[in-house]
Amino acid sequence: MNDIATENTQQYTYIIAGGGMSGLSLAYYLAESQLPYERILILEQGSESPKTWCFWSNEDHPFDAYAEHEWKDLVIQSFDNQALDLSIDPFVYRKIESTTWTQAILEKLKSNPKFEFVQATVESFQYHGKFAQVLTSQGKFEATEKIFDSISPYPCNLTDPKELKQHFVGLFIETNFPLFDSSKATLFDFRIAFTNACEFMYVLPTSSRTALFEHTFFSNTLIEETEYLKQIKAYLFAYYGLSDDDYEIKGREKGIIPMNYVEIPQNLHQKIVKIGTAGGFVKASTGYSFKRTQELLKNLVSKLESNQWNAKVITQTRFKVLLDRIFIQVLVDQQVKGSSVFEKLFQKNSATRMLRFLDEKTSTWEDLRLMTTVPTWPFMKAFFKIVFNR
Ligand SMILES: Cc1cc2nc3c(=O)[nH]c(=O)nc-3n(C[C@H](O)[C@H](O)[C@H](O)COP(=O)(O)OP(=O)(O)OC[C@H]3O[C@@H](n4cnc5c(N)ncnc54)[C@H](O)[C@@H]3O)c2cc1C
Repeated sequence: MNDIATENTQQYTYIIAGGGMSGLSLAYYLAESQLPYERILILEQGSESPKTWCFWSNEDHPFDAYAEHEWKDLVIQSFDNQALDLSIDPFVYRKIESTTWTQAILEKLKSNPKFEFVQATVESFQYHGKFAQVLTSQGKFEATEKIFDSISPYPCNLTDPKELKQHFVGLFIETNFPLFDSSKATLFDFRIAFTNACEFMYVLPTSSRTALFEHTFFSNTLIEETEYLKQIKAYLFAYYGLSDDDYEIKGREKGIIPMNYVEIPQNLHQKIVKIGTAGGFVKASTGYSFKRTQELLKNLVSKLESNQWNAKVITQTRFKVLLDRIFIQVLVDQQVKGSSVFEKLFQKNSATRMLRFLDEKTSTWEDLRLMTTVPTWPFMKAFFKIVFNR
């Protein structure tokens, strides 16, 4: 391979556009793989704010080592103040801070001379003969094999009320005195869900004095940032007796994650492959994507190793897609309280079955049984709406 492909164009075997969660995860799996490559380039503009990534898992993974905290017990607080304790064994719920993880992965990759990093803003992608190229603020780069694109926007219109989003603002707080039970994380506290929109507080205590409180919606319309903050403060006062003087705000995070389903059909023949949020790796009905991204990328690399060029990047059965779309439609329609959908599911099914279901690891028979535990009419209507629209 020539170092300089054409004048001012540097050539690499693979180029990864975006060194965030999916880009660096892919780099990690490529570094571990048996794939032949000469040079891999990671392009990152370097302006991403820190994030907290949580996921449940019943399998070991090298990234577990970077978890800041883990929980074996989860809690769901229903709207009518019933606490449902979920013992999730053999699953564990883990929390990874993006800054710790990114630093660790970068250190590992930087010890491999085949990886190069360029801080640049990607402007566009193009084809040049049989290769793909990326145009950036630092020049043009060409990939002999593939460009992986984790920077393109996922098609989700933030102002369209038909498109569901997970939107949230979280505060990391430290109290002046011990208060929290750090052995349990609250996945949903629906005591704040007064409307039909799926609204809840997500609480991750990491020690007796530190916790993340995230006011979260699975809904179609966004709200002002000050509203989430007001709600968190009111919640801290109402349920923990905390007034402003009792704690210090150590940090905050916010996000809008698409929860609309858009099919992004891709196979490994393509020279430019979208990954991460850009590639539709977010599980539409939950907004989770950390673990799913790891599974999809590990698979992608092993398919590249075995030259499965026809392999799809995402392999989700039609039935699982349909279930996802029905869930999303129910939450968009808001004919039933979003809180009661999740409450019923977790009350009537074991926690481990629910987690397997959300991971798409349940059988069709289990899925059908699970569907008998949801509010019937809203789900039937959503089903017909989707089938009719088709
Ligand atoms: C605050 C927050 C919390 C989340 N928490 C969870 C969670 O708990 N569990 C979970 O499963 N999922 C979570 N998610 C969803 C998802 O896991 C993350 O959004 C994840 O970071 C997505 O990975 P990605 O690689 O697609 O995007 P990113 O991690 O955002 O990576 C994209 C990278 O591309 C770079 N970039 C963008 N444009 C350009 C450009 N033009 N040129 C060069 N570089 C560019 C960015 O700087 C960024 O580093 C969360 C999302 C947010 C926003």
